Amino acid sequence: MDAFPSFRGKMEYVCQECNARFPGDNLFYTCPKCGGVFLLIDKNFDELKKTSGQAWREIFDARQMTSLQSLRGIFRFYELMAPTFTAEDIIYLGEGNTPIIPAAERLQKEIGAAFAFKNEGQNPSASFKDRGMAMAFTCIKWLSRLYGWKEVLTICASTGDTSAAAALYAAYVGPPVKSVVLLPLGKVTPQQLAQPLGSGATVICIPGVFDDCMRVVEILAEHYRVALLNSKNSWRILGQESYAYEVAQWRGWQLENTALFIPIGNAGNITALLSGLLKLFKLEIITKLPRIFGVQSVNANPVYNYYHSQEKVWKPVKVKPSVAQAAMIGNPVSFPRVRKLVEKYTAIAGANSFNVMEVSEEEIMEAMLVANRHGHISCTQGGECFAALIKAVSQKTLTQSEYAILDSTAHMLKFSDFQNRYFENSLVEDYDIHARPELVNKPIAIMSNEERDNTPYEYFTKSVVEKITDILSLTPKS
Ligand SMILES: *Cc1c(COP(=O)(O)O)cnc(C)c1O
Ligand SMILES: [Zn+2]
Repeated sequence: MDAFPSFRGKMEYVCQECNARFPGDNLFYTCPKCGGVFLLIDKNFDELKKTSGQAWREIFDARQMTSLQSLRGIFRFYELMAPTFTAEDIIYLGEGNTPIIPAAERLQKEIGAAFAFKNEGQNPSASFKDRGMAMAFTCIKWLSRLYGWKEVLTICASTGDTSAAAALYAAYVGPPVKSVVLLPLGKVTPQQLAQPLGSGATVICIPGVFDDCMRVVEILAEHYRVALLNSKNSWRILGQESYAYEVAQWRGWQLENTALFIPIGNAGNITALLSGLLKLFKLEIITKLPRIFGVQSVNANPVYNYYHSQEKVWKPVKVKPSVAQAAMIGNPVSFPRVRKLVEKYTAIAGANSFNVMEVSEEEIMEAMLVANRHGHISCTQGGECFAALIKAVSQKTLTQSEYAILDSTAHMLKFSDFQNRYFENSLVEDYDIHARPELVNKPIAIMSNEERDNTPYEYFTKSVVEKITDILSLTPKS
């Protein structure tokens, strides 16, 4: 059981626009022929069909107990993603295997739905981006070994979490890898800025929004020798497929009556979800595809607009500020991938198997706060998913027999600034969010420093105790 898999695939880039193919043992971001985005496929994938769905399920279940470090994270599903690496290439920083926590019972009752959160914030850099980075850096290590690269400058634009993950993995790998990240000035949270700084990356802040940073990175990648780590890097998509595999495994490989809610920003994550589920289905590891609910804020909703328009023409939007800042993207790079995969997905599972919903900024914040008041650790993007679930229940889009799994894509701590601003009611102007008093929580100051300095110590503690018993209405023990 504890042997590294012997199966080897043959990876190939496939352009999602013109179908041109390029060998997978090199770094490509966009199609040299037409500029389209790629997906990586394994030319040997059909060989995996020689093993039955049942046998695969047993293999993956047995690997949950592996003592091999290389198979502990996302590479538990090695054969399904990029089976070209050897154990020595694989980088594992504890990503993947994130817990799926059923919502507190009283919350499930209140909402009228059975559901759980998958806590992607429990990845090492506190977002799901680590799944893709583990794959991307494994690939870079493999290529560096193959070609003897002396320096690899990794670069990415980010709404915060991509750069945190990229910087972390780059710091772990070390030379020949060096990490550079481009962030929109003032549009990432202090925590997200602290992460790449702490990992020692070169951090460059650009006035503008994510879409501007992305454009700059694209130009750099086109003209200079840099390794692009945005989701145009198709290796990242492969790593992120592990989310789908873990969900399926958690459900005992039965995805009938399952609904997966996922926020859409640059649309890499939903690409990976669709792609991963289709692979499981092709190998008969699952026999039913779950329903998918992509979620966007009304302030950054190009994918929602596309799927809800009659004419189905793609139009990027100009984003407005969103508390779901990590998904605040007006021109998602992966949309062509999504469009193609959705066609395949709905051809198998029916038109209502893929849905995109939009939710308001206020709904996002309230949903996040409510979730966290019930013992969850949802970020604002997880709030998007929860807000959409609430809506889907009230609109009866979701049936009583369906179990929903909400992707809380990052840890709430990364987004605590939005929580603070909600409590201070300072989100009104930019986000049109009005705080509901019952959701506000503030620290209670008992006395000023000055007052304390002027109080003798025995009176100080006595006075504090008195104030606390007052606040809590404590009665003395009889
Ligand atoms: C990146 C990110 C998203 C958006 O995912 P995409 O793959 O860009 O659609 C959502 N939530 C968090 C926390 C993220 O970091
Ligand atoms: Zn092409």
